[in-house]
Amino acid sequence: MKKALIFLLAAWCFSTSAWAQKTKANKLVIVSFDGYRWKDVFRGADSGLFNNKQYNTQKQPVRAEKYWAATSKERREKLMPFFWGYFAKNGQIYGNRDLGNFVNVKNPYWFSYPGYNEIFTGYPDTLVNSNDFPPNPNVNVLEYINKQPGYQGKVAVFTSWDAYYRILNKERSGLLINSGYSDLDIPSLTPAQQALNKAQHDLPKIFGDSERYDAITYGLATDYLKQNHPNVLYLAFIETDSFGHQGKYDYYLDAAHGNDEMLRKLWDYLQSDPYYKDQTTLMIVGDHGRGDDDLWRSHGRKVPHSDEIWFAVMGPQTKPLGEISAPGQLWQNQYAQTIASFLGLKFPSPHIIGEPIKQVLGGKR
Ligand SMILES: [Zn+2]
Repeated sequence: MKKALIFLLAAWCFSTSAWAQKTKANKLVIVSFDGYRWKDVFRGADSGLFNNKQYNTQKQPVRAEKYWAATSKERREKLMPFFWGYFAKNGQIYGNRDLGNFVNVKNPYWFSYPGYNEIFTGYPDTLVNSNDFPPNPNVNVLEYINKQPGYQGKVAVFTSWDAYYRILNKERSGLLINSGYSDLDIPSLTPAQQALNKAQHDLPKIFGDSERYDAITYGLATDYLKQNHPNVLYLAFIETDSFGHQGKYDYYLDAAHGNDEMLRKLWDYLQSDPYYKDQTTLMIVGDHGRGDDDLWRSHGRKVPHSDEIWFAVMGPQTKPLGEISAPGQLWQNQYAQTIASFLGLKFPSPHIIGEPIKQVLGGKR
Protein backbone atom coordinates (compact mmCIF):
# COMPACT_ATOMS: atom_id res chain seq x y z
CA MET A 1 0.00 0.00 0.00
CA LYS A 2 2.73 2.39 1.03
CA LYS A 3 4.85 1.46 -2.01
CA ALA A 4 1.89 1.93 -4.34
CA LEU A 5 1.25 5.37 -2.90
CA ILE A 6 4.86 6.43 -3.40
CA PHE A 7 4.73 5.11 -6.96
CA LEU A 8 1.52 7.05 -7.69
CA LEU A 9 2.97 10.21 -6.16
CA ALA A 10 6.16 9.88 -8.21
CA ALA A 11 4.15 9.30 -11.41
CA TRP A 12 2.02 12.36 -10.66
CA CYS A 13 5.08 14.55 -10.00
CA PHE A 14 6.70 13.36 -13.22
CA SER A 15 3.63 14.01 -15.36
CA THR A 16 3.02 17.50 -13.94
CA SER A 17 6.65 18.54 -14.44
CA ALA A 18 6.57 17.21 -18.03
CA TRP A 19 3.37 19.15 -18.58
CA ALA A 20 4.89 22.30 -17.10
CA GLN A 21 7.87 22.01 -19.44
CA LYS A 22 5.66 21.48 -22.47
CA THR A 23 3.59 24.56 -21.81
CA LYS A 24 6.67 26.72 -21.26
CA ALA A 25 7.66 27.58 -24.83
CA ASN A 26 11.38 28.20 -25.14
CA LYS A 27 12.49 31.72 -25.88
CA LEU A 28 15.66 32.93 -27.49
CA VAL A 29 17.55 36.22 -27.62
CA ILE A 30 20.42 36.42 -30.11
CA VAL A 31 22.92 39.28 -29.88
CA SER A 32 25.69 39.92 -32.40
CA PHE A 33 28.89 41.90 -31.91
CA ASP A 34 30.11 43.03 -35.33
CA GLY A 35 33.78 42.37 -36.07
CA TYR A 36 34.85 42.13 -32.44
CA ARG A 37 38.11 40.19 -32.16
CA TRP A 38 38.40 37.06 -30.00
CA LYS A 39 41.72 38.46 -28.75
CA ASP A 40 40.02 41.40 -27.09
CA VAL A 41 37.27 39.17 -25.69
CA PHE A 42 39.66 36.65 -24.09
CA ARG A 43 42.75 38.77 -23.36
CA GLY A 44 41.22 42.20 -22.70
CA ALA A 45 42.86 45.37 -24.02
CA ASP A 46 45.73 44.63 -26.42
CA SER A 47 48.94 46.29 -25.16
CA GLY A 48 50.28 47.05 -28.64
CA LEU A 49 47.11 48.84 -29.72
CA PHE A 50 46.39 50.36 -26.31
CA ASN A 51 49.85 51.98 -26.19
CA ASN A 52 49.86 53.20 -29.79
CA LYS A 53 49.01 56.94 -29.90
CA GLN A 54 47.83 56.61 -33.47
CA TYR A 55 44.84 54.53 -32.33
CA ASN A 56 43.81 56.43 -29.21
CA THR A 57 42.68 60.00 -28.60
CA GLN A 58 41.43 59.67 -25.00
CA LYS A 59 44.00 60.51 -22.31
CA GLN A 60 46.13 57.55 -21.27
CA PRO A 61 45.34 57.68 -17.49
CA VAL A 62 41.62 57.77 -18.27
CA ARG A 63 41.89 54.75 -20.56
CA ALA A 64 44.16 52.91 -18.14
CA GLU A 65 41.71 53.44 -15.29
CA LYS A 66 38.95 51.94 -17.41
CA TYR A 67 40.65 49.03 -19.14
CA TRP A 68 44.25 48.42 -18.13
CA ALA A 69 45.57 45.84 -15.64
CA ALA A 70 48.68 43.69 -15.34
CA THR A 71 47.16 40.37 -16.42
CA SER A 72 44.96 39.52 -19.36
CA LYS A 73 42.45 37.92 -16.98
CA GLU A 74 42.04 41.20 -15.07
CA ARG A 75 41.95 43.21 -18.29
CA ARG A 76 39.16 41.16 -19.84
CA GLU A 77 37.11 41.42 -16.63
CA LYS A 78 37.52 45.20 -16.64
CA LEU A 79 36.53 45.38 -20.29
CA MET A 80 33.48 43.08 -20.07
CA PRO A 81 32.48 42.72 -16.41
CA PHE A 82 29.10 41.10 -17.06
CA PHE A 83 30.46 38.65 -19.60
CA TRP A 84 33.35 37.48 -17.40
CA GLY A 85 31.69 38.03 -14.03
CA TYR A 86 28.30 36.43 -14.67
CA PHE A 87 27.98 34.88 -18.13
CA ALA A 88 31.22 32.88 -17.75
CA LYS A 89 29.89 31.29 -14.56
CA ASN A 90 26.45 30.48 -15.97
CA GLY A 91 26.96 29.80 -19.67
CA GLN A 92 29.47 28.45 -22.20
CA ILE A 93 32.08 30.52 -24.06
CA TYR A 94 33.89 29.23 -27.16
CA GLY A 95 36.76 30.59 -29.23
CA ASN A 96 39.77 31.10 -26.93
CA ARG A 97 42.47 30.06 -29.38
CA ASP A 98 45.10 30.45 -26.65
CA LEU A 99 43.52 27.28 -25.21
CA GLY A 100 43.17 25.56 -28.58
CA ASN A 101 39.44 26.21 -28.76
CA PHE A 102 38.61 27.48 -32.25
CA VAL A 103 35.54 29.04 -33.89
CA ASN A 104 35.77 30.08 -37.55
CA VAL A 105 33.62 31.33 -40.38
CA LYS A 106 33.17 28.90 -43.30
CA ASN A 107 32.54 31.48 -46.03
CA PRO A 108 35.64 32.65 -47.93
CA TYR A 109 35.02 36.40 -47.60
CA TRP A 110 35.42 37.34 -43.89
CA PHE A 111 33.12 40.35 -43.86
CA SER A 112 29.59 41.12 -42.76
CA TYR A 113 26.89 40.23 -45.31
CA PRO A 114 28.44 36.81 -46.07
CA GLY A 115 28.88 36.31 -42.30
CA TYR A 116 25.30 37.14 -41.32
CA ASN A 117 24.04 35.10 -44.26
CA GLU A 118 26.04 32.14 -42.89
CA ILE A 119 24.80 32.72 -39.32
CA PHE A 120 21.11 32.76 -40.25
CA THR A 121 20.96 30.37 -43.21
CA GLY A 122 23.68 27.90 -42.22
CA TYR A 123 24.86 28.04 -45.82
CA PRO A 124 28.14 29.86 -46.59
CA ASP A 125 26.94 30.87 -50.02
CA THR A 126 29.85 31.85 -52.29
CA LEU A 127 27.45 33.91 -54.43
CA VAL A 128 26.87 36.24 -51.46
CA ASN A 129 30.08 38.20 -51.92
CA SER A 130 29.37 41.85 -51.19
CA ASN A 131 27.88 44.04 -48.45
CA ASP A 132 25.85 45.64 -51.26
CA PHE A 133 24.39 42.27 -52.26
CA PRO A 134 20.67 42.50 -53.12
CA PRO A 135 17.91 40.89 -51.01
CA ASN A 136 19.13 37.47 -49.91
CA PRO A 137 17.77 34.55 -52.00
CA ASN A 138 18.54 32.13 -49.13
CA VAL A 139 15.76 31.49 -46.60
CA ASN A 140 16.91 32.26 -43.05
CA VAL A 141 16.09 30.47 -39.82
CA LEU A 142 14.34 33.49 -38.25
CA GLU A 143 11.91 33.61 -41.17
CA TYR A 144 11.35 29.86 -40.82
CA ILE A 145 10.66 30.18 -37.08
CA ASN A 146 8.29 33.10 -37.69
CA LYS A 147 6.12 30.80 -39.82
CA GLN A 148 5.87 27.99 -37.24
CA PRO A 149 2.78 27.56 -35.03
CA GLY A 150 3.11 29.61 -31.84
CA TYR A 151 5.83 31.84 -33.31
CA GLN A 152 3.89 33.81 -35.92
CA GLY A 153 4.55 37.51 -35.34
CA LYS A 154 6.69 36.56 -32.33
CA VAL A 155 10.11 37.09 -33.95
CA ALA A 156 11.62 40.58 -33.94
CA VAL A 157 14.88 42.01 -35.27
CA PHE A 158 16.55 45.27 -34.18
CA THR A 159 19.88 46.19 -35.73
CA SER A 160 22.19 49.19 -35.92
CA TRP A 161 23.22 48.55 -39.55
CA ASP A 162 20.58 48.97 -42.26
CA ALA A 163 21.76 46.05 -44.46
CA TYR A 164 19.53 43.60 -42.56
CA TYR A 165 16.52 44.51 -44.68
CA ARG A 166 18.42 42.77 -47.48
CA ILE A 167 20.31 40.15 -45.43
CA LEU A 168 17.08 38.81 -43.91
CA ASN A 169 15.06 39.70 -47.02
CA LYS A 170 12.32 41.66 -45.27
CA GLU A 171 10.04 41.68 -48.29
CA ARG A 172 9.96 37.90 -48.60
CA SER A 173 10.42 36.96 -44.95
CA GLY A 174 7.83 39.38 -43.55
CA LEU A 175 9.91 39.64 -40.35
CA LEU A 176 9.56 42.69 -38.11
CA ILE A 177 12.91 44.41 -38.74
CA ASN A 178 13.99 47.83 -37.50
CA SER A 179 17.43 48.83 -38.78
CA GLY A 180 19.75 51.74 -39.46
CA TYR A 181 18.10 55.15 -39.32
CA SER A 182 14.54 53.88 -39.79
CA ASP A 183 11.95 54.87 -37.24
CA LEU A 184 10.31 52.00 -35.43
CA ASP A 185 6.85 51.82 -36.99
CA ILE A 186 4.43 49.88 -34.79
CA PRO A 187 0.93 50.85 -33.55
CA SER A 188 1.82 51.32 -29.88
CA LEU A 189 5.11 53.18 -29.48
CA THR A 190 6.25 53.79 -25.90
CA PRO A 191 7.34 57.33 -24.93
CA ALA A 192 10.96 56.12 -24.93
CA GLN A 193 10.59 54.67 -28.44
CA GLN A 194 9.07 57.93 -29.67
CA ALA A 195 12.02 59.83 -28.18
CA LEU A 196 14.58 57.41 -29.67
CA ASN A 197 12.90 57.57 -33.11
CA LYS A 198 13.50 61.32 -32.99
CA ALA A 199 16.91 61.36 -31.27
CA GLN A 200 18.54 59.06 -33.82
CA HIS A 201 18.11 61.76 -36.48
CA ASP A 202 19.36 64.54 -34.19
CA LEU A 203 22.61 62.81 -33.20
CA PRO A 204 25.72 63.27 -35.37
CA LYS A 205 26.03 60.44 -37.89
CA ILE A 206 29.56 59.48 -36.92
CA PHE A 207 29.38 56.10 -38.70
CA GLY A 208 27.78 57.40 -41.90
CA ASP A 209 24.24 57.05 -43.16
CA SER A 210 23.72 53.34 -42.69
CA GLU A 211 24.91 52.67 -39.11
CA ARG A 212 23.37 54.17 -35.98
CA TYR A 213 24.42 54.12 -32.33
CA ASP A 214 23.89 50.80 -30.54
CA ALA A 215 22.18 52.59 -27.63
CA ILE A 216 19.35 53.63 -29.99
CA THR A 217 18.93 50.07 -31.29
CA TYR A 218 19.10 48.66 -27.77
CA GLY A 219 16.54 51.14 -26.39
CA LEU A 220 14.04 50.53 -29.19
CA ALA A 221 14.47 46.75 -28.84
CA THR A 222 14.15 46.47 -25.08
CA ASP A 223 10.93 48.48 -24.91
CA TYR A 224 9.58 46.26 -27.69
CA LEU A 225 10.58 43.20 -25.65
CA LYS A 226 8.78 44.48 -22.55
CA GLN A 227 5.60 45.44 -24.38
CA ASN A 228 5.23 42.82 -27.08
CA HIS A 229 6.93 39.74 -25.62
CA PRO A 230 8.49 38.28 -28.77
CA ASN A 231 9.63 34.64 -28.39
CA VAL A 232 12.72 35.28 -30.48
CA LEU A 233 14.60 38.59 -30.50
CA TYR A 234 17.68 39.35 -32.58
CA LEU A 235 19.67 42.40 -31.50
CA ALA A 236 22.65 43.36 -33.70
CA PHE A 237 25.30 45.81 -32.51
CA ILE A 238 27.70 47.54 -34.93
CA GLU A 239 29.96 49.91 -32.98
CA THR A 240 32.95 47.58 -32.46
CA ASP A 241 33.28 47.22 -36.24
CA SER A 242 32.60 50.90 -36.94
CA PHE A 243 35.22 52.19 -34.48
CA GLY A 244 37.61 49.47 -35.67
CA HIS A 245 37.43 50.75 -39.25
CA GLN A 246 37.98 54.29 -37.95
CA GLY A 247 41.14 53.08 -36.17
CA LYS A 248 39.88 54.30 -32.78
CA TYR A 249 40.92 51.57 -30.36
CA ASP A 250 39.83 53.50 -27.24
CA TYR A 251 36.31 53.89 -28.62
CA TYR A 252 36.32 50.30 -29.87
CA LEU A 253 36.92 49.25 -26.25
CA ASP A 254 34.23 51.67 -25.04
CA ALA A 255 31.82 50.08 -27.52
CA ALA A 256 32.57 46.56 -26.25
CA HIS A 257 32.23 47.75 -22.66
CA GLY A 258 28.94 49.49 -23.44
CA ASN A 259 27.57 46.44 -25.27
CA ASP A 260 28.52 44.28 -22.26
CA GLU A 261 26.53 46.59 -19.98
CA MET A 262 23.55 46.32 -22.36
CA LEU A 263 23.81 42.52 -22.11
CA ARG A 264 23.70 42.79 -18.32
CA LYS A 265 20.60 45.01 -18.34
CA LEU A 266 18.95 42.79 -20.93
CA TRP A 267 19.58 39.64 -18.90
CA ASP A 268 18.41 41.32 -15.68
CA TYR A 269 15.19 42.26 -17.44
CA LEU A 270 14.66 38.77 -18.87
CA GLN A 271 15.03 37.29 -15.39
CA SER A 272 12.59 39.83 -13.90
CA ASP A 273 9.75 39.10 -16.33
CA PRO A 274 7.82 35.84 -15.71
CA TYR A 275 7.29 35.50 -19.47
CA TYR A 276 11.06 35.03 -19.94
CA LYS A 277 12.50 34.05 -16.57
CA ASP A 278 14.32 30.69 -16.64
CA GLN A 279 12.92 29.94 -20.14
CA THR A 280 15.17 32.13 -22.26
CA THR A 281 18.47 31.37 -23.94
CA LEU A 282 20.90 34.20 -24.65
CA MET A 283 23.19 33.45 -27.60
CA ILE A 284 26.05 35.77 -28.58
CA VAL A 285 27.62 35.54 -32.01
CA GLY A 286 30.02 37.43 -34.28
CA ASP A 287 30.09 37.81 -38.06
CA HIS A 288 33.88 37.94 -38.59
CA GLY A 289 37.11 38.82 -36.82
CA ARG A 290 39.73 41.44 -37.62
CA GLY A 291 43.46 41.50 -38.27
CA ASP A 292 46.41 41.80 -35.88
CA ASP A 293 48.64 44.77 -35.11
CA ASP A 294 48.24 47.51 -37.74
CA LEU A 295 45.82 45.33 -39.66
CA TRP A 296 43.40 45.36 -36.70
CA ARG A 297 41.35 48.09 -38.37
CA SER A 298 40.40 45.83 -41.23
CA HIS A 299 39.12 42.40 -42.16
CA GLY A 300 38.43 40.35 -45.28
CA ARG A 301 40.17 37.50 -47.08
CA LYS A 302 43.40 39.52 -47.45
CA VAL A 303 43.62 40.15 -43.71
CA PRO A 304 44.93 37.10 -41.81
CA HIS A 305 42.91 36.02 -38.75
CA SER A 306 39.73 37.82 -39.73
CA ASP A 307 37.97 34.46 -40.16
CA GLU A 308 38.47 33.81 -36.42
CA ILE A 309 35.35 34.35 -34.30
CA TRP A 310 33.91 33.49 -30.86
CA PHE A 311 30.57 32.31 -29.58
CA ALA A 312 28.74 32.20 -26.24
CA VAL A 313 25.46 30.75 -24.89
CA MET A 314 23.65 30.89 -21.55
CA GLY A 315 20.19 29.60 -20.66
CA PRO A 316 18.04 26.79 -19.28
CA GLN A 317 19.21 24.22 -21.86
CA THR A 318 22.92 24.96 -21.53
CA LYS A 319 25.18 23.48 -18.86
CA PRO A 320 27.22 26.16 -17.06
CA LEU A 321 30.64 24.98 -18.26
CA GLY A 322 32.06 28.50 -18.48
CA GLU A 323 35.03 29.25 -20.75
CA ILE A 324 35.63 26.10 -22.78
CA SER A 325 39.26 25.09 -22.34
CA ALA A 326 39.14 21.79 -24.23
CA PRO A 327 40.56 21.87 -27.76
CA GLY A 328 37.81 21.96 -30.34
CA GLN A 329 36.48 23.51 -33.52
CA LEU A 330 33.10 25.08 -34.17
CA TRP A 331 31.91 26.76 -37.35
CA GLN A 332 29.65 29.71 -38.05
CA ASN A 333 27.47 27.56 -40.36
CA GLN A 334 26.32 25.60 -37.26
CA TYR A 335 24.49 28.54 -35.68
CA ALA A 336 21.31 28.41 -37.80
CA GLN A 337 20.44 24.81 -36.89
CA THR A 338 21.47 25.49 -33.27
CA ILE A 339 19.02 28.42 -33.16
CA ALA A 340 16.22 26.16 -34.42
CA SER A 341 17.20 23.40 -31.98
CA PHE A 342 16.83 25.67 -28.94
CA LEU A 343 13.15 25.96 -29.90
CA GLY A 344 12.77 22.23 -30.58
CA LEU A 345 12.61 22.85 -34.35
CA LYS A 346 14.57 21.57 -37.32
CA PHE A 347 15.43 24.16 -39.94
CA PRO A 348 14.94 22.70 -43.44
CA SER A 349 17.40 23.89 -46.06
CA PRO A 350 17.89 22.94 -49.71
CA HIS A 351 21.65 23.15 -49.03
CA ILE A 352 24.01 21.19 -46.83
CA ILE A 353 24.18 23.23 -43.63
CA GLY A 354 26.12 22.91 -40.37
CA GLU A 355 25.05 20.50 -37.61
CA PRO A 356 23.59 21.95 -34.39
CA ILE A 357 26.15 22.51 -31.63
CA LYS A 358 25.21 19.64 -29.32
CA GLN A 359 27.34 20.79 -26.38
CA VAL A 360 25.10 23.80 -25.76
CA LEU A 361 21.81 21.92 -26.12
CA GLY A 362 19.74 19.77 -23.84
CA GLY A 363 21.96 20.25 -20.82
CA LYS A 364 19.90 21.29 -17.83
CA ARG A 365 16.29 20.30 -18.40
ZN1 LIG B 1 33.68 45.80 -41.08
